[in-house]
Amino acid sequence: KVRFDGVTKRFGDHTVLDGLDLAVAPGERVTLIGPSGSGKTTILRLLMTLERVTGGVIHVDGEPFSHMPSGPSGRGGRGGRGGPGGPGGKLVPADERHLARRRRHIGMVFQQFNLFPHMSVLANLTEAPVHVLGLGKEEAAERARELLALADKADAHPTRLSGGQQQRVAIARALAMRPDVLLLDEVTSALDPELVAEVLDVLRDVAATTDLTMLCVTHEMGFARDISDRVLMFDGGRVLESGPPGALLDDPGHERTRSFLRSLH
Ligand code: ATP
Repeated sequence: KVRFDGVTKRFGDHTVLDGLDLAVAPGERVTLIGPSGSGKTTILRLLMTLERVTGGVIHVDGEPFSHMPSGPSGRGGRGGRGGPGGPGGKLVPADERHLARRRRHIGMVFQQFNLFPHMSVLANLTEAPVHVLGLGKEEAAERARELLALADKADAHPTRLSGGQQQRVAIARALAMRPDVLLLDEVTSALDPELVAEVLDVLRDVAATTDLTMLCVTHEMGFARDISDRVLMFDGGRVLESGPPGALLDDPGHERTRSFLRSLH
């Protein structure tokens, strides 16, 4: 379902991902772990089209799904459909439409919630279903209320909620688009410790009650153990080792993984 083929990502002369190959099966739950700067967030942002690849291609559902490689030699690379990119890798409209269509199937939850602060909780959940999917307002509101464990807060503005509640709204907002793939980027890292559990419980429930494909960056190893089919240890933009959570977390093959896991305690 999700496949990275030889994906390279550079920021200037800093190579963050270097020819990454990665396949995630439909419904699979994959957790990415590794030291800061190893490229985990970049992988999620590339999938969400918030960043463009420097080289290689990302497939979602067998369709090539990535921006054209940027830069003067990046015109019409393997990464897109709908004709070559414009000057400097600028996307042509057909390709933007294609990307937007693909993006609908992917939901992302960020470390910093990223809710729309000027909108009520309910409006946060109905905005994209109405404007992107074309759902009627009533239908979108109904869908939102089903998802909203914080129904009594529907009219509140996000800034009035605790961090844990905001993050639960952000999860509901992602699910309101009925994505096939859910990306979780350190979703508890910005929370006070006592608020972490309520968010992880919601996600455990999502994992148990849906068949969503999930890619998750987290430092919460108990959570990773509970929900993951596979854990990937990244180092220097490459997969150092991977395996089922029990095997990888209890008996890692590399000293680098052992020292990383020790550093979390
Ligand atoms: P963390 O746990 O700190 O988020 P990570 O493994 O998720 O780490 P990334 O956030 O993917 O790592 O970042 C990988 C590297 O890419 C880092 O060195 C970061 O500074 C760099 N980087 C990320 N985004 C940009 C950007 N927009 N411009 C320049 N450098 C960037």
